[in-house]
Amino acid sequence: MPTLRVVPENLWQGAHERIAESRTYYDKATHCSRQGRPRGVDSKYLLPGFARCGCCNGGLHVRSSNQGTGANRWRAFSYACTAHYNRGPDVCGNALKIRMEVADEAVVGKLGELLTPDLVDDVIVRVRELLGPEHQDEHRSRVARDLRAAENQVERLTDAIAMGGDLPTGGCKASEGRTAAPGTRQDDAGARGKSQ
Ligand SMILES: [Zn+2]
Repeated sequence: MPTLRVVPENLWQGAHERIAESRTYYDKATHCSRQGRPRGVDSKYLLPGFARCGCCNGGLHVRSSNQGTGANRWRAFSYACTAHYNRGPDVCGNALKIRMEVADEAVVGKLGELLTPDLVDDVIVRVRELLGPEHQDEHRSRVARDLRAAENQVERLTDAIAMGGDLPTGGCKASEGRTAAPGTRQDDAGARGKSQ
């Protein structure tokens, strides 16, 4: 499990921009109907289109590699910075690959902590109020504000988790980017068990 680190100001700003970008795209794609999911941020994986590289603020993609030998062969999936792998280390030096199940579990775990029963109750109450005829605008803006705050928190946590905890803050040189969280080494040719 990678540890969390404080997100630098520029990344925090980037997360805000990303949320605004997603919202604009979403509204365009759905004609502001707020129904369904927009294409482009849709993915069968959890984090692409959502988490960002902590070095270049670019998107993440999914990489896969063969692990083990013979009957013990299996395919490992991980998240990595798209700019680094597609455009080279001069564009982004972050070579970190974090095992998908490790990152997903960490993000989902954090979401579970955030979505407490009290919060869910509160959301339901406010949605009911929002659907009522009275004070629609007031409630709508309050819910929108709360939703923004929750989105910001999720983005911040996701960025921190996706970056892994072993990267030194501000250190995004290629050599440092190779520091992977425990259980995320993928380049080994030998048969390494999942339970290392
Ligand atoms: Zn990057």
